[in-house]
Amino acid sequence: MKNIIITGGAGFIGSQVVRLFVTKYPAYKIINLDALTYAGNLENLSDIDNAPNYIFEKINILDVEELERVFMEHEVTDVIHLAAESHVDRSIESPLDFVYTNVVGTVNLLNAAKKHWAADLDQRLFYHVSTDEVYGALGSTGFFTEDTPYHPNSPYSASKASSDHFVRAYGETYHLPFVISNCSNNYGPYHFPEKLIPLFINNIITKKPLPVYGDGLYTRDWLYVKDHAIAIDTVFHKGVVGETYNIGGFNEWKNIDLVKLLCKQMDEKLGNSPGTSEALITYIKDRPGHDRRYAIDATKINKELGWKPSVTFEQGLSETIDWFLDNKEWLNHVTSGAYKEYYTKMYSGQ
Ligand code: NAD
Repeated sequence: MKNIIITGGAGFIGSQVVRLFVTKYPAYKIINLDALTYAGNLENLSDIDNAPNYIFEKINILDVEELERVFMEHEVTDVIHLAAESHVDRSIESPLDFVYTNVVGTVNLLNAAKKHWAADLDQRLFYHVSTDEVYGALGSTGFFTEDTPYHPNSPYSASKASSDHFVRAYGETYHLPFVISNCSNNYGPYHFPEKLIPLFINNIITKKPLPVYGDGLYTRDWLYVKDHAIAIDTVFHKGVVGETYNIGGFNEWKNIDLVKLLCKQMDEKLGNSPGTSEALITYIKDRPGHDRRYAIDATKINKELGWKPSVTFEQGLSETIDWFLDNKEWLNHVTSGAYKEYYTKMYSGQ
């Protein structure tokens, strides 16, 4: 029997992980612990809201007393930690928010785990879900491996690097069993429309400009969010304690090429004449500290744990566009802020 806290379970990736665990493991109790910031949306989970093995706790990971209560009340056996401030542009505007949630919040969770698991530490697991951005930027060749030195360049990646270090340090110092995974850029359903792919889908629907940073030649590896959730399931169940796993899509794209593919697929699906969406592309001033290229070598998780992505980028992107076109209401709620009313209605008094 496992009672697993999944933090950030109302977010983009967390909601896929919660859904996967709730449906695949009916014998586990899944506690979705989320503060419901602007990025947390319980509508992401309306299909599993009533599952008997699912519990939602509206808690900020900065609230030590509430963390204590949850660990005791639910006899928590494992933590899968995704809650974070996750948007690089916001970290440039207000870095301290990222220090509080991503660093202090992670240490609060580690402290709660250390305290409540003291009697049977070896049965427990603290899984920290992290990013490849901790490694910094690559030149035109090479890949990030698990041995690449950390070199974070943005306040976001610095805060995630710091939280990775704290998790590892709690493993060394207090023997807290942990695993860490560092993943490349995700895309897919329920993606908050401040990030590139959903923002551009939304802008094409609403015929707004498509703002491309700098020369558009920034390169990222992209992974379908459902494949990330499967990778997290794999690492949680088969990963070796104390190890790090890089997760990636074996799928590098220059931003401008990705945007052109997206425009082409959107034009086909919307019945536009070719080139309609591409005409919306507008180059804008670069973001400070913008890393040129990220590329993940995911050989370790592939060879040792048998995971690989299940869909190609073209398939995943097509499914993502279909999802956004079929869920305009979700998009409207998120972009209008009306989804907050849903939280109040559903969870007033929590
Ligand atoms: P997200 O912004 O969509 O979701 C974050 C969730 O955390 C939200 O539900 C939010 O309400 C919650 N949260 C934020 N601050 C909180 C706090 N103080 N207490 C409790 N809950 C809080 O993020 P995401 O894109 O789903 O990313 C999830 C995790 O995966 C993050 O740790 C991120 O660093 C990591 N990651 C993301 C990507 C990506 O491409 N999105 C890639 C690699 C790793």
